[in-house]
Amino acid sequence: MPAYFRPDNLNEALALLAEEPVTLAAGCTDLFPATEAKALNGPVLDLTAIDGLRGVVRGSEGWRIGTLTTWSDLCKTDLPAAFDMLKQAAREVGSWQIQNAGTVAGNLCNASPAADGVPPLLALDARVELQSAKGTRVLPLGSFVTGVRKTALQPGEMVTAILIPAAAGAGISRFRKLGARRYLVISIAMVAGRLVVEDGKIGEAAISVGSCSPVAVRLREVENQLLGCRLADVAATVDADMVARALSPIDDVRGDAAYRTTAAVELVRRTLADLAGEAS
Ligand SMILES: Cc1cc2nc3c(=O)[nH]c(=O)nc-3n(C[C@H](O)[C@H](O)[C@H](O)COP(=O)(O)OP(=O)(O)OC[C@H]3O[C@@H](n4cnc5c(N)ncnc54)[C@H](O)[C@@H]3O)c2cc1C
Repeated sequence: MPAYFRPDNLNEALALLAEEPVTLAAGCTDLFPATEAKALNGPVLDLTAIDGLRGVVRGSEGWRIGTLTTWSDLCKTDLPAAFDMLKQAAREVGSWQIQNAGTVAGNLCNASPAADGVPPLLALDARVELQSAKGTRVLPLGSFVTGVRKTALQPGEMVTAILIPAAAGAGISRFRKLGARRYLVISIAMVAGRLVVEDGKIGEAAISVGSCSPVAVRLREVENQLLGCRLADVAATVDADMVARALSPIDDVRGDAAYRTTAAVELVRRTLADLAGEAS
């Protein structure tokens, strides 16, 4: 029978983590489906009883999303409109049961190309706080998820929070996901967009696309192209080749690469059109 630990404080968890390799378990909504045995591969370090790691807190430098914050917790939290895209993604993660158990951080650590949390968090300039018995380090989300099912987590480390800088709390935002049906579906392509509008023109744009490359990406070229653009022109300004250049989609049972690219371009345009409509 594999060992199972469920500490109630972070120091104890970090000490256990320093001793030997363990399977970290949060909501287990990714872990259980991926386990081909009746029990998780042990030893298991269940994080869910650790005090102080759940919920979203606003500090002087921005927002701190504790690592045990579930999708449902996030939806219930009062947050600025810049977070609407993250809440919209949250409402489309599986079903209510999955949203009640699954954590935002678990979604990042699982590092699926189709993780719905990654595009909105990229567009919020999220950083990931990692702790071990040796100390704390913080990585930009784009450096934390390094490939399909790969992260920068080192042995002995766990994620303790997702950090959103205060500046990224500006603007309005939107998330759009394409799947084979409306709910309980793995994304074929998804887009998160955040716009800061000043005097009817785009002052800042953050747009990311998921499920169309090993790791979701920000569309920096498109973002730059949008700066100074009038609201009425934003959707038409998006250059399809510019979007496609940033992506490297695969062919799979859900869609081929060409379909994914076409879908991503259309989702970007619709997301921007939605945001322009909301702003004007
Ligand atoms: C029916 C169903 C539908 C789903 N639908 C969607 C969907 O629509 N969109 C979507 O994106 N996902 C979906 N998922 C996947 C899953 O629900 C999410 O990715 C969820 O956010 C994972 O969080 P968790 O807390 O359950 O992670 P867990 O399963 O507990 O862990 C996932 C991985 O992260 C690691 N981990 C967890 N916490 C930490 C930590 N603090 N530090 C370091 N490593 C950690 C674990 O070791 C494991 O490798 C679905 C899953 C199911 C079963």
